[in-house]
Amino acid sequence: MSTERPVRVRFAPSPTGALHIGGVRTALYNYLLARKHGGTMILRIEDTDQNRFVPGAEEYIRESLKWVGIEIDEGPEQGGPHAPYRQSERKPMYRQYADKLIEEGLAYYAFDTEEDLEQMRKRLEASKMQPAYDSVSRMGMKNSLTLSADEVKERLDRGDNYVIRIKLPRKEEVRFHDVIRGWVAVSTSTMDDKVLLKGDGMPTYHLANVVDDYLMGISHVIRGEEWLPSAPLHVMLYRYLGWEDKMPEFAHLPLLLKPEGNGKLSKRDGDRLGFPVFPIDWTDPKTGEKSSGYRESGYYPEAVANMLALLGWHPSDNQEMFTMDELIQSFSLERVSKSGAKFDVNKAYWFNQQYLNQKSVPEIYADIVPIFSELYGSVNQEYAETIIAMMREKYQFAREIPAASSYFFVEPSAFDEEVIRKKWKPETNGLLLELGEWFTRNNCLTPTEFEDNFKIYCESKGIKTGEILQPLRVAVSGAPMGPPIFDMLALLGLEKVLTRLIVCTNLIKL
Ligand code: GLU
Repeated sequence: MSTERPVRVRFAPSPTGALHIGGVRTALYNYLLARKHGGTMILRIEDTDQNRFVPGAEEYIRESLKWVGIEIDEGPEQGGPHAPYRQSERKPMYRQYADKLIEEGLAYYAFDTEEDLEQMRKRLEASKMQPAYDSVSRMGMKNSLTLSADEVKERLDRGDNYVIRIKLPRKEEVRFHDVIRGWVAVSTSTMDDKVLLKGDGMPTYHLANVVDDYLMGISHVIRGEEWLPSAPLHVMLYRYLGWEDKMPEFAHLPLLLKPEGNGKLSKRDGDRLGFPVFPIDWTDPKTGEKSSGYRESGYYPEAVANMLALLGWHPSDNQEMFTMDELIQSFSLERVSKSGAKFDVNKAYWFNQQYLNQKSVPEIYADIVPIFSELYGSVNQEYAETIIAMMREKYQFAREIPAASSYFFVEPSAFDEEVIRKKWKPETNGLLLELGEWFTRNNCLTPTEFEDNFKIYCESKGIKTGEILQPLRVAVSGAPMGPPIFDMLALLGLEKVLTRLIVCTNLIKL
């Protein structure tokens, strides 16, 4: 990586809908590189294709990035020395570059109608050739290379519809270096003369993208692999515009793959396997279709950032848990892999669980108190916090805790059938009742008092603790698993424990 050049990177989404989680990863890698080198992170909205514009998509993108912890230095909201940062607002800037290319014979006007193009495609397909508008087929079309200068002038003066296309050489090798993929070489004979400026005067993605990267002093273009086929054209544009020495370094990121590993991770995979593929909830304004997001599904933004960072990049050791600052320190494009990264939903759960366990109890409480209240009415904060502290290790999402801890708020109404089947013997009810009396007689209050007395009782009866430990848990909570049992008993208190033992043993008839 060239060190003299200040690092300036951009995330350049098109506001065509919800931002896919893969797009968030692209933004994240840009951000990590920028922060690592004290550089600048730019958000540029590529909205030149007005047909694909979706209202609300830009706001969605900005909110998603903010939520994951990606800070933007220059962008539509922040402004900056290269404002505006929305391409639609930069429209007047692009034309001059297309004109310059025309003047230099590196681009040309094309007047072909939709029907002309369709006929050309059919003709080429019929003779088993690639249906492309390229250095060969262009000579049979209506453009400033085939029409006389007078006719071209006449058409332009008359206001005929036209586009401007790049004029690629017939057969020339375009070579460029990609930080992740190494050297890439493509022959112009396989490329077509892409449109640079459209009939409505709007630049296409290719022209606007290259012009803006140049004008904004972008040092690294870090984007998804799906843009790799466009890179040779972009390299040609840099060359034609005389900007080759300012060309950014390219880094095309590997795809995010389906959990099975075949093909790109899609929204449908998310629906099928029950995980979000979008950072935050999204409602399509046209269809009303709703898609769930990581945020609303109860993921922590730190967990999502951590998980995404490791989908395609790996550190030099086995470290898995990274704060954003640690990611910034460790990240390098050289450690991004070439091959696609398989999405693993269990890993996503695992990361969330790790972060859940790192949170402070009051923070978790603040997040889920509405769920507690909805389920059980108003709850005592201290009581709920004790429950959270006891329970969280077992769960991946904080939002699971209120429902899972119902027995701290209401009497259990069902008792785990498997435990009853496997662990209840004819004498179990009697032992449990006697144990309850034992606890009462010894006035058990603390977890240790419950534990000690439990052991003494079992010893006095000559039974193994394992014989009644599970039945005790199920009798008191209904559930086969939960927090450490003696903590649970102490929090419920002697009175409730005794009542529940009586109720349960009355219900279970063997
Ligand atoms: N506007 C393109 C997109 O939507 C940007 C690709 C690039 O980064 O060059 O992904």
